[in-house]
Amino acid sequence: MLSAAPRPCEAIASFAGAPAFQPMKVMPMSRRRQIYEGKAKILYEGPEPGTLIQYFKDDATAFNAQKKGTINGKGVINNRISEHVFTRLAHIGIPTHFIRRLNMREQLVRQVEIIPLEVVVRNVAAGSISKRLGIEEGEPLPHTLIEYYYKDDALNDPMVAEEHIACFGWANNEEMQDISSMAIRINDFMCGMFAAVGIRLIDFKLEFGRIWDGDYSRIILADEISPDGCRLWDMTSGEKLDKDRFRRDLGGEEEAYQEVARRLGLLQDDANPGEVFDLSAHRTKLRTGHKPKK
Ligand code: C5P
Repeated sequence: MLSAAPRPCEAIASFAGAPAFQPMKVMPMSRRRQIYEGKAKILYEGPEPGTLIQYFKDDATAFNAQKKGTINGKGVINNRISEHVFTRLAHIGIPTHFIRRLNMREQLVRQVEIIPLEVVVRNVAAGSISKRLGIEEGEPLPHTLIEYYYKDDALNDPMVAEEHIACFGWANNEEMQDISSMAIRINDFMCGMFAAVGIRLIDFKLEFGRIWDGDYSRIILADEISPDGCRLWDMTSGEKLDKDRFRRDLGGEEEAYQEVARRLGLLQDDANPGEVFDLSAHRTKLRTGHKPKK
């Protein structure tokens, strides 16, 4: 494990007749420097200047960390899904912080100056917009909406207008142009990518960062894209395949995240490719502790 404490050398038994081993001097292993710990990820200093290691945890939080829990294996799946999405976005020319995946839970990324905004893209009404404006969940929006929220846990990430962003200098006009046009392109691409595997992209959250080259800066996509920050509904059944399962105590979050990865072709264990996420089977499993017979 990544941040495990250095283990002392085990005692070494001496063989008969062989000179007794002197206990080895235990040298403390150097720990990686932790830069930041968020709700679902940890950032460590990377191997080269300008890089970071992004570690994906299983921890899940909702409602600004008022609800806390874990989703077993979430970190591993989100690492893989995010790698897949960022790599494909790079192929269509979206600049991202992703460099490469290092192992099951970690990826190497470029260090950015994070823009303190959560950029939410919505295709269908759900979650906070439904609550705020009284629109029924599942109602398609007349056109794609982009909303901005100021990243501040203490303030509960309030929604802000572009005027606030300009007024307080969180991003300039040119940067906001880049952010909004990238958000629309990312949405178009992701709607198609998920539709191809029978998933409806309801909404999602993006984060962007600034990188510097001398006196010039540019905006790149940062953070992650995974079922933690997207609403993903099965195209036919409407079943939720995202963090709303955790937020709303629906159960089956592990299976839902795995299902997204499986449909995207990211799970090795694909013994039953025709099998779809079956919530009633999941409920039976929860009740009885056994997988139902097919
Ligand atoms: O809660 P709300 O409806 O505003 O969320 C819109 C989208 O943004 C959802 O897909 C949700 O998962 C994501 N989001 C997020 N992190 C937040 C707030 C929203 O990933 N802090």
